[in-house]
Amino acid sequence: MRVLLTGGSGFIAAHVLDYLLEHGHSVVTTVRSQEKAKKIKEAHPNVSKDKLDFALVEDIAKESAFDETVKSDPPFEAVVHTASPFHFNVTDIQKELLDPAYIGTVGILKSIKKSAPTVKRVVITSSFASIIDPFKGNWPEHTYSEADWNPMNQEQALKDAPSGYRASKTFAEKAAWDFVEKEKPNFSISTMCPPLVLGPIVHYLNSLDALNTSNQRIRDIMMGKAKDEIMPTGTYIWADVRDLALAHVKAMEVPEAANKRFFVTAGYFSNKEIAQIIAKNFPQYKDKLPTDKTPGGDYPEGGVYKYNNKRVQEVLGVKFRPLEESIVDTVKSLQAVGA
Ligand code: NDP
Repeated sequence: MRVLLTGGSGFIAAHVLDYLLEHGHSVVTTVRSQEKAKKIKEAHPNVSKDKLDFALVEDIAKESAFDETVKSDPPFEAVVHTASPFHFNVTDIQKELLDPAYIGTVGILKSIKKSAPTVKRVVITSSFASIIDPFKGNWPEHTYSEADWNPMNQEQALKDAPSGYRASKTFAEKAAWDFVEKEKPNFSISTMCPPLVLGPIVHYLNSLDALNTSNQRIRDIMMGKAKDEIMPTGTYIWADVRDLALAHVKAMEVPEAANKRFFVTAGYFSNKEIAQIIAKNFPQYKDKLPTDKTPGGDYPEGGVYKYNNKRVQEVLGVKFRPLEESIVDTVKSLQAVGA
């Protein structure tokens, strides 16, 4: 298929790109600068321009940002939209989190409808943030699935950056489903809803200081920040970036995935378990790591929500890697950038 992938410089998108190429697709990926395009190109030296090309989209929060990008020769048949801010370093929640997520998602759907009639499949990276009810706490009696929606409203979204991020994903995903219902476009959508995503970074785009948000806890534990007290885990479920990336590509390829949400969850984890896995596999970090007696980083005493991850396995055939494999590979990838 000829595919448009947004945000190709992102942690998750870098792996989506590799699976798209591995599956024989021809990809144009958007980046915010020529410099990032150059780095991605150099990391794929044997891939020809007709298999991997680039388009500049500097800010997805601008209305019509994708109007020209969705036009291509040969024309696109599918779009994978991953670009969206995931960090908490913001001063203006509306402008820096809510707008890029919402306007970016609705904007690309409008552009496809208007100018790319050959596109039949659109896969959107949403999040467990759009599933979880943040007002229920750990909610041990509940089983989260694709049927759940985060009930946050605009006022609650503006409370702080984490609320803003969760709401940005919720509002954007809701808007995508509303768009399909009201506009009845020529394409179907699938949304991918992962919780915390862990896994190897691609060395050509990252440094220890500029690391994607979800892997920062692994870096911090390796660097000694959990030695005296392990930081709270917060979200207790996770997925490996490679399994999630494959799920995106399968969702684009498998006809039964059309018009479905996917809760892409491998299982439970805690920061304490991450520290234990690093200690077991990388004894050279012993002096910086917590011990079994160090407080913090565990599951809550009263238990935690359950999850139903059947759909992604049944419809997309994705199997989940174990936590230990994911953490070991992540640590190795961080060592490659100087950890
Ligand atoms: P990254 O920060 O690595 O990637 C985000 C991507 O979006 C980057 O390519 C970034 O470009 C691009 N981007 C952000 N804001 C804009 C903007 N205003 N205009 C243009 N491009 C923009 O994070 P992840 O790979 O982790 O996140 C990718 C997607 O996955 C997001 O939609 C995120 O919400 C979702 N997600 C991530 C989870 C995780 O744990 N990692 C969990 C659940 C969902 P640049 O690098 O140039 O800034």
